[in-house]
Amino acid sequence: PQDPAPDSVQLVARPAVFLGKSAQGHKYGHGHALVLSGGAGKGGAARLAARAALRVGAGLVTIAAPQPAIAEHAAQLNAIMLTALPDGYSLRGLLQDTRLNALCLGPGLGQSRAQDLVPAALWGRRATVLDADALSAFAEDPPLLFGQLHDKVVLTPHMGEFRRLFPDLSERLHTPAYSKIEAARAAAARAGCVVLLKGPDTVIADPSGRAALHAATGANAAPWLATAGSGDVLAGIIAGLMARGFAPFEAAASGAWLHAAAARAFGPGLIAEDLPEMLPQVFRDLG
Ligand code: AMP
Ligand code: MG
Repeated sequence: PQDPAPDSVQLVARPAVFLGKSAQGHKYGHGHALVLSGGAGKGGAARLAARAALRVGAGLVTIAAPQPAIAEHAAQLNAIMLTALPDGYSLRGLLQDTRLNALCLGPGLGQSRAQDLVPAALWGRRATVLDADALSAFAEDPPLLFGQLHDKVVLTPHMGEFRRLFPDLSERLHTPAYSKIEAARAAAARAGCVVLLKGPDTVIADPSGRAALHAATGANAAPWLATAGSGDVLAGIIAGLMARGFAPFEAAASGAWLHAAAARAFGPGLIAEDLPEMLPQVFRDLG
């Protein structure tokens, strides 16, 4: 449904959009996602996100890391490009390249690097996923973050990150008549962007009140997702879909579905590394 009434909730469904590529397509036509990495020894989360962005079909994916982390990334990656990025000032320079059309920040970033890079990233007004440290870095002053957000941003907090940004909404979740759906809607209205509130049940909401639910007990349930690094993969999936041109709400909802479907395709024993590698099978099964 396109424009449901604010009190209705859609269920996250199989992506309606054809996920394949045209025969005439060119990698530059499929978007270029930039994943910002933390320092040496902290880059695994960015690699998970970057591989996921590439697997959902972004044409190009670059990891931007502090120089000391470049060698570690280079030892682990082939198809993903690398660039040294010391600070927010240099990120603004990088964003002069308008072909970089989607950003992913937060996984493994470190909070002090996030405080520097998030404003620079948002200044570029690209499609942007903010997760993990990009959210927690604003725990002391959430309105400072909200004042910089724009309508191409997706926030992907788990419950702990949500509590740090929206303590009052999180508190209300302890009262019986207040649901995660209402909390996500209120958060999206306050932030002015899409909020994807993670957990066994995942809710996606936008500022207009549109909401979608991916239920822990639904047909696409994937309890194996409760494993280290799994949220980093989701952030990369959403950034990759936005690089391809998906609107933020659709990227978040389709991303949640694909993430769970990849976990289901693998089954028990899943670790985060397996998720991007299962996506091709998910796409084949989508037909
Ligand atoms: P993070 O905490 O950032 O690593 O994110 C964890 C990811 O796993 C999110 O996408 C959650 O929605 C998902 N997840 C966690 N627990 C479950 C569960 N029991 N069933 C389905 N998905 C889950
Ligand atoms: Mg996480």
